[in-house]
Amino acid sequence: MSEQFKRDDRKSAAAFEEAKRYIPGGVNSPVRAFKSVGLTPAYIERGSGSRVYDIDGNEFIDYVGSWGPLIVGHAHPEVVEAIKRTAEKGTSFGAPTEIETEMAKLVCERVPSIEIVRMVNSGTEATMSALRLARGFTGRSKILKFEGCYHGHADSLLIKAGSGVATLGLPDSPGVPEGVAINTITVPYNDLESVRLAFEKFGEEIAAVIVEPVAGNMGVVPPLPGFLQGLRDVTKQYGSLLIFDEVMTGFRVGYNCAQGRFGITPDLTCLGKVIGGGLPVGAYGGRRDIMERMAPSGPIYQAGTLSGNPLAMIAGYTTLKLLEKPGVYDELERKSARLEEGFLNNAKELGVPSTINRVGSMVCPFFTDVHVTNYETAKTSDLARFGRYFGHMLDLGVSVAPSQFEGMFVSAAHSDEDIEATIAANREALKRTL
Ligand code: PLP
Repeated sequence: MSEQFKRDDRKSAAAFEEAKRYIPGGVNSPVRAFKSVGLTPAYIERGSGSRVYDIDGNEFIDYVGSWGPLIVGHAHPEVVEAIKRTAEKGTSFGAPTEIETEMAKLVCERVPSIEIVRMVNSGTEATMSALRLARGFTGRSKILKFEGCYHGHADSLLIKAGSGVATLGLPDSPGVPEGVAINTITVPYNDLESVRLAFEKFGEEIAAVIVEPVAGNMGVVPPLPGFLQGLRDVTKQYGSLLIFDEVMTGFRVGYNCAQGRFGITPDLTCLGKVIGGGLPVGAYGGRRDIMERMAPSGPIYQAGTLSGNPLAMIAGYTTLKLLEKPGVYDELERKSARLEEGFLNNAKELGVPSTINRVGSMVCPFFTDVHVTNYETAKTSDLARFGRYFGHMLDLGVSVAPSQFEGMFVSAAHSDEDIEATIAANREALKRTL
């Protein structure tokens, strides 16, 4: 732990050293290593509701929420009970089970664009499969994505990506063949003019536009009015498919996802995070005529040993059922709005440059006065100050993602007291960065 921070992290530091002997960089997903903020990751022992507890005995109000899935909080008793009950009957069969249909039905009922859906094991698999389907369906090779959007780590999507790629300041990843990269067109988020120009040039070759309807991997960046509608129009005009990557926003920004919130229906939708309730799940679905091109009803191939796994299905199903309770999303909205307001007041009072972006329960404070609408403007945030802020927040008992390019996730488990304590911690952490 650096001099300026006080948290006791000796056990975590030892655990991290041990892990580095056996795991690249000590972690199974890069941003967890806290590299960009120059600190030692807190090794988590357990979570409960809005809190996580590390092996050094520190307690944190947690806004990472396993990077989005835990919208009902850590170890929700009903989710845990459902997993236990299911596990007692067996963990995986590689054969159809009824819970898969129950889960699919729920997703189809709730997501406007999804008539039929296939479950996979991660968001990466969902986007990768949706792209293969789009290419197979249209017979075209190129895709268009947006700078700073992250759609998982499949080759063709690791071009100008957000999330950990942005956090670590990596160039486009080595190992992605040129022949693959050449088929990925990237343009700035929220820039319809660039999208139209790309279509004028390559329109007949573009299989799909893939977009985070609220960008959550360059901080939180909402779509500007007309942006999503513009994508819907241009893809229709050129016979390309529109894919919403709702791995982060699905069931997060509303029970009908971002597409319900903004009233735009894509051709295909990718899901993950919340629909797994903390277990590994992804899904892609959409128009029946497109989805039925997948094997075994069609010729385009995709499969998975553990896809539709009963534990993952029941965890996701139980989570979605909990989200059906009246008022859940209104409460998330109310608490998140209060957080936004408190952060904004703190920054104003202390004279810290600040822009706070929020959509539903995704909240992101940037250290800049610039209106953040894309990756270029997100990068105007003072990253050095973010690093100090992050360390002080941990010292003050609040866990946020160790990156400026990730949002905070408010969960149904956060109480009003948690929110007020977080606003107070934010004020103190900002003060310490002055
Ligand atoms: N798409 C989006 C929008 C994401 O935020 C992520 C992960 O953060 C992914 C895809 C990849 O999902 P996974 O990490 O489950 O592979």
